[in-house]
Amino acid sequence: MKDLFIYNSLSGKKEKFKPIKEGLVGMYVCGPTVYSNVHLGNVRTFMSFDMVFRYLKHLGYKVRYVRNITDAGHLEDDADSGEDRIAKKAHLEKIEPMEVVQRYTVDFHQTLNNFNFLPPSIEPRATGHIIEQIETIKEIIKNGFAYEVNGSVYFDVIKFNETKNYGKLSKRKIEDLIHNTRNLDGQSDKKNPQDFALWKKAEQHHIMRWPSPWSNGFPGWHLECTAMSTKYLGENFDIHGGGMDLKFPHHECEIAQSEASHGKSPVNVWMHANMLTLNGQKMAKSTGNFILPNDFFTGNSKHLSKKFSSSVVRFFILQAHYRSVLDFSNTALLASEKGYNKLMEAINILPSLKKSDETIGMNVKLWIKDCYKAMNDDFNSPILIAELFKLVKFINQIKDGSAFVSSDDLNLINLHLKEFVFDILGLKNDTFSDTKFEGKLKETVQLLIAMRNEARENKDFKLSDKIRDRLLNIGIQLNDGKEGTTFTIENK
Ligand SMILES: [Zn+2]
Repeated sequence: MKDLFIYNSLSGKKEKFKPIKEGLVGMYVCGPTVYSNVHLGNVRTFMSFDMVFRYLKHLGYKVRYVRNITDAGHLEDDADSGEDRIAKKAHLEKIEPMEVVQRYTVDFHQTLNNFNFLPPSIEPRATGHIIEQIETIKEIIKNGFAYEVNGSVYFDVIKFNETKNYGKLSKRKIEDLIHNTRNLDGQSDKKNPQDFALWKKAEQHHIMRWPSPWSNGFPGWHLECTAMSTKYLGENFDIHGGGMDLKFPHHECEIAQSEASHGKSPVNVWMHANMLTLNGQKMAKSTGNFILPNDFFTGNSKHLSKKFSSSVVRFFILQAHYRSVLDFSNTALLASEKGYNKLMEAINILPSLKKSDETIGMNVKLWIKDCYKAMNDDFNSPILIAELFKLVKFINQIKDGSAFVSSDDLNLINLHLKEFVFDILGLKNDTFSDTKFEGKLKETVQLLIAMRNEARENKDFKLSDKIRDRLLNIGIQLNDGKEGTTFTIENK
C-alpha cells in the first residue's frame, strides 16, 4: 500500500496516515441538520469526504464511515440560544417535527444520490441516541467537568481548561474566548458565557423533549456527535471530517466532551473541507446570490445559462482541492463541461485504439505513479485531473497516429483510467459509449436544428417552437448562442 499523507487540522501539517487498527479505518463526518433543503456548500463538503471514502476503499482499507443526521438539538445560533431549528420549521408548517425530518432527509438522500455518492456505512440519528447522550453527560458530570442549573447541564470550559486544552483545534486562546463571548440571552444559567449546553430543560412550548435525570428536555447539539462516534467507532478513531465552519465551536466541543468523559483524545486526524462562493461572493438566500443543488439539473436559476448534468457539477467541484475555496460561476461550469466531455470522449474511443509493438509518446507506468502521487498528497484531486488530461492528450495522439501504444500499456490505461475516473472521483459517463450510435444521434439532432432554423427564417415560429419543445420532452435541450444552436442530452 502506498503512503498516504493527510493534512491534519489539529497539527496544521500533512501527516503520514497510519490507521489505529491495521487495514481498518474509522471515519466520522458531521451530517446535515434536516430542517431545509440541502445547501450546495454541504454537498461540496460531503462530496470531499465521499472522495476520501472512495480512495481509502480503493487503497484496500476496510472503512467504517459514519455520517449522522441531526434531527434534534441544533438551535438557531450555534451557541445555546434560539429555537430548535426543526421544531421551529414544524411550528411554521403546522406539521410534526418528524415530518420535517423525514421530508428533508429524503431530499438530502435524493440530492446526494443524484451526485453519485456512496452511502455511508452507518447513518445514525440524534433522536435515536438520547440514552447514549445522557450516559455521556453522566460521565462528564462524574469527572467534574459539567454542572447542573435549573434542570439544564452545562460543560465547564474554564474547569476543563485547567488541566486540558480547550481551543487546540481552532487555535483559540481561552483568554480571548472569555474576552469575546457575550451572554446573548441575558437569562442564561451558565456560570461563564463560553460554557456550552450538554442538556437543556425544555420550555413549556418546546415540542421535542425527552426525560432525563435533570429535566424533561433535549441534548445540546455538540453532544450527539461525541456519543455516536464513540458508540460506532470507539473512544479513539482515525478520521473526523466536516465543513470548515464546524471547527469552532462544534468540533472543539466534541474534543472537550470526549476528553472530559473518557479521558482520551477522540480523533487522530481532523479534516476540514473549505467553503464555496458563487460569482466570487458568499452564498446567501437573502441577497439572491444563491443556488440550490437541484437548480443545475433544471437550469432554472438566474445564475445559470443552461442545465448541467450531475457529473459535470461533480467534475467541477473536484477540480478544486477540498481545502481551497471553490467559486461557482456559469463560465467556470461551461469550461468544466467541455473538459468533462473531452475526458469521456477519450474513454469512449479507448476500445477502438490501434495497438502497436511499443509505446511512443508517453511513459504509462510513470503516469500511473503520478496519479497516485497526487491522491496520496492529501487527496489532491485537481492534480489528479491534470494528470488525466495528459493521458487524454496522449489518447488523441494515438488516434491521430502521432503516438503509439503497446497492448500491455493500453490494458494498464484502460484499467487505471477507469478506476481513477469512476471509482475514485465517482464520475459517471453521461455520454454514449457507442460512438457510432452517438454520431448518428448527433447528426439527427443537427438535422432537426437545421429544420428549426429554416422554420424560423420563414417566420413559422409555431413549427420552430414545436421542434424545440418536442425535443425537450424527450430530454434533448437546444441552447441558442452566438455561434449557433447547440444541444445537451439529459442522461439520467
Ligand atoms: Zn458533529
